[in-house]
Amino acid sequence: MAIADLPLADTLARPLRDLRISVTDRCQFRCTYCMPRDVFGRDFAFLPREQLLTFEELARLARVFAGLGVRKLRLTGGEPLLRRDLEKLVAMLAGIGGIGDIALTTNGALLAGKAQALAAAGLHRVTVSLDSLDDTVFMALNDAGFPVARVLDAIAAAADAGLAPVKVNMVVRRGVNEQSILPMAAHFRHSGYVLRFIEYMDVGTTNGWRLDDVVSAAEIISLIGRQWPLQPAEPAYHGEVARRWRYRDGGGEIGVIASVTQPFCRGCTRARLSADGNLYTCLFGVAGHDLRGPLRTGSSDQALREQIGSIWTRRTDRYSEQRTRQTGRKQQVKPKVEMSRIGG
Ligand code: SAM
Repeated sequence: MAIADLPLADTLARPLRDLRISVTDRCQFRCTYCMPRDVFGRDFAFLPREQLLTFEELARLARVFAGLGVRKLRLTGGEPLLRRDLEKLVAMLAGIGGIGDIALTTNGALLAGKAQALAAAGLHRVTVSLDSLDDTVFMALNDAGFPVARVLDAIAAAADAGLAPVKVNMVVRRGVNEQSILPMAAHFRHSGYVLRFIEYMDVGTTNGWRLDDVVSAAEIISLIGRQWPLQPAEPAYHGEVARRWRYRDGGGEIGVIASVTQPFCRGCTRARLSADGNLYTCLFGVAGHDLRGPLRTGSSDQALREQIGSIWTRRTDRYSEQRTRQTGRKQQVKPKVEMSRIGG
């Protein structure tokens, strides 16, 4: 039987359902927890254009992934809206059979001018990153002088374009923006937007991560719940990474992504494609599997399907569960790929 006919599952019986596509490793922001300026400075060697997968290559791969069971696509980066004419890629992806959901994660800087075109091309949803409502805190974090108001405008423009429900991601780092948790919760209650708090993660090797910097999801929920009582909500679908909570007074819902304190490797159905065409089976991957080479040297769709299928069926990754057990010991983990390279 060919691999395409098999229900594809990895060594922990996890199916392949989601593909995150990084369309560029570049970003205009220098968020201190992701692309710190002292590492990603003027001399940093970003990928040259010819090494990026073209829209045609990305769409071809997405079609192969759809044939292996992928139902959801997310465009990310780097900052995906830096890739010119991204709506053209969206339109190509929207035409792939079996894909039921196409989403985008963005810092919002270019979103207001693009939201209508993206929605018209077939984008379903956006997630916008915003780590504080306080300009001083936010600008220190994005290290690019970018003001809060423009991100809020972008969120409103996305909602107007029908890219709803818009989700807002806030990474919480102790001593940096934890004081922004309650103001953010207050602002987005009753708004129809879904605010999600992300535990600061040890992705890559450049952000100087320490466990002490993590504000746990439990702490965040308890802080907000004391102000506005919360009740847990059922996951929207199997394998959802955010744990959902609802305000008891009808103020809407929030989510927490607790990949450090409550890892969800067991339910992880995601693959990630880096901008230069490497397939990673874990956000904390050390090495990718090159798909650009085979793509550019004439591999057939069937050969690509076999290659990806065999990578997935051998997949053993459960980094976050293992990290949680190791945390506290003086044990150094292997060098990991940067999030800006494979996409968050
Ligand atoms: N540039 C886009 C953006 O800002 O949303 C997409 C790429 S960014 C890498 C995707 C998401 O990853 C953002 O919400 C960002 O805040 C989050 N992120 C980056 N580094 C992180 C870290 N160390 N821990 C937790 N989340 C992180």
